[in-house]
Amino acid sequence: GPALEARSLYRFFRVGDEETLALQGVSMSVQPGELVAVVGPSGSGKSTLLACLAGLDEPDGGAVTVGGERMSHRPEPVRARLRARSVGVLFQSGNLVEHLSVEANIALAQQLAGRDDPIRPAELLATVGIADRARAVPATLSGGEAARAGLAVALANDPPVLLADEPTGELDAATEAVVLDLIVDATRRGTAVLVASHSPVVAATAHRVLTLTDGRLAS
Ligand code: ADP
Ligand code: ADP
Repeated sequence: GPALEARSLYRFFRVGDEETLALQGVSMSVQPGELVAVVGPSGSGKSTLLACLAGLDEPDGGAVTVGGERMSHRPEPVRARLRARSVGVLFQSGNLVEHLSVEANIALAQQLAGRDDPIRPAELLATVGIADRARAVPATLSGGEAARAGLAVALANDPPVLLADEPTGELDAATEAVVLDLIVDATRRGTAVLVASHSPVVAATAHRVLTLTDGRLAS
């Protein structure tokens, strides 16, 4: 079955008298090895969707399933454990802890997931092409190195699902191509990938493009 599934997701935000319908019945799934892009104008609900899929936010209605396990409507510690094991999260703001070296960031992600057979950090860093930056702290990395390091952390537990929100938003075209190649490599190893992006290069690389408008999907 699908590695990632959303069924009829609803999310409302109320600020004062104003109610925003951020997600209005979103259903979608991503198969193992598939790369799906989510596009849509600013405010269309992309970040809310990714947060619900990652279990960082709870939908008001509907259900999220990750790697065959229900993510939504479970206690926060249960979602956190499932996320650590089964969901690689790559957000634009970055997923690196600033005061830890790249290899320590990978080790931390693996400790949180509680795997007894973690992938060796050196192997992960070789996969993303920065084997020589294991001891570096994030502030000393170039933009491209930071993007590769973030991807290594997101993939540290070989998750069935990778969720990325504008992963190439701050990168030049050459680095974007490198990061996209690495994401495509992950799909070849069986990872299901969902990327929210404004980039036409991401949309062109994806196997499938989903369009969000006012919290609803059209294809
Ligand atoms: P996108 O990622 O496509 O820009 P978002 O998911 O960030 O869209 O936002 C979808 C809608 O939900 C927007 O109208 C936004 O203002 C609203 N929204 C998102 N998060 C919140 C929040 N925490 N409180 C109130 N409104 C929110
Ligand atoms: P060791 O040689 O014992 O491994 P390191 O020099 O690698 O020690 O540093 C230990 C920890 O401190 C590592 O997690 C590293 O990322 C962090 N660290 C090293 N230098 C800095 C720095 N300038 N700012 C923040 N953290 C740092």
